[in-house]
Amino acid sequence: MSKINIAIDGFSSCGKSTLAKQLAQHIGYVYVDSGAMYRAVTLFAMRNDFFTKMDLNEAQLIASLAQVEVRLAYDSKTQSQITFLNNENVEEEIRKMPVSQRVSQVAVVKEVRERLVFLQQQMALDRGVVMDGRDIGTVVMPDAELKIFMTASPEVRAKRRLDELEAKGDKVSFDEVIENLKHRDHIDQTRAESPLTQADDARVLDNSKITREEQLKLVKSWISLFPS
Ligand code: C5P
Repeated sequence: MSKINIAIDGFSSCGKSTLAKQLAQHIGYVYVDSGAMYRAVTLFAMRNDFFTKMDLNEAQLIASLAQVEVRLAYDSKTQSQITFLNNENVEEEIRKMPVSQRVSQVAVVKEVRERLVFLQQQMALDRGVVMDGRDIGTVVMPDAELKIFMTASPEVRAKRRLDELEAKGDKVSFDEVIENLKHRDHIDQTRAESPLTQADDARVLDNSKITREEQLKLVKSWISLFPS
């Protein structure tokens, strides 16, 4: 079968990366987690004190962007993606709450988006990519053959995210997690620069009430509609 590109967009923590990873493994495609790239730039901004509490100094970040190198690699041992910030493995750190609480502010910055979108488009040139994010079907890969827009209720999403964080030993409350999700969704949907929207030609996948296996089966049935 000739390879296609698959774009998966949607709200925070509705299982985009779980589906994208599973799918990539099943059909032998490359998985690209675009959110990890925004998280890595956020960590860079935090470490360089571009945030005063929760306020980002955008001008400082923009002036330093040339010093930021973000790279995604695949670890075949753990079968997962690793995110590198200037050659340091930051995969664990970028998933923690301090980064989650600030990433949407970094993601509104036009210059950050332009830089990361360019890198993401380079990764998709040869096709055979499953990429998840917020603007993949609309901006990064508008020509993706299959576009999926994922959603689930905020409660279901917060519960899943809380379970994930607890499994890693992070102590956070349900309220803290749901507030963070709603806050990020709001910023992501209302920002001027490539806001989170459903592409006109996207298929909607609400996974509030279906299992991972059912979800995978459904999406594989969509893929099978493409000519081999
Ligand atoms: O997907 P994840 O939740 O890790 O993304 C973190 C944040 O990065 C999102 O809340 C959003 O603000 C931003 N993002 C984005 N565009 C993407 C991917 C992520 O704006 N393509």
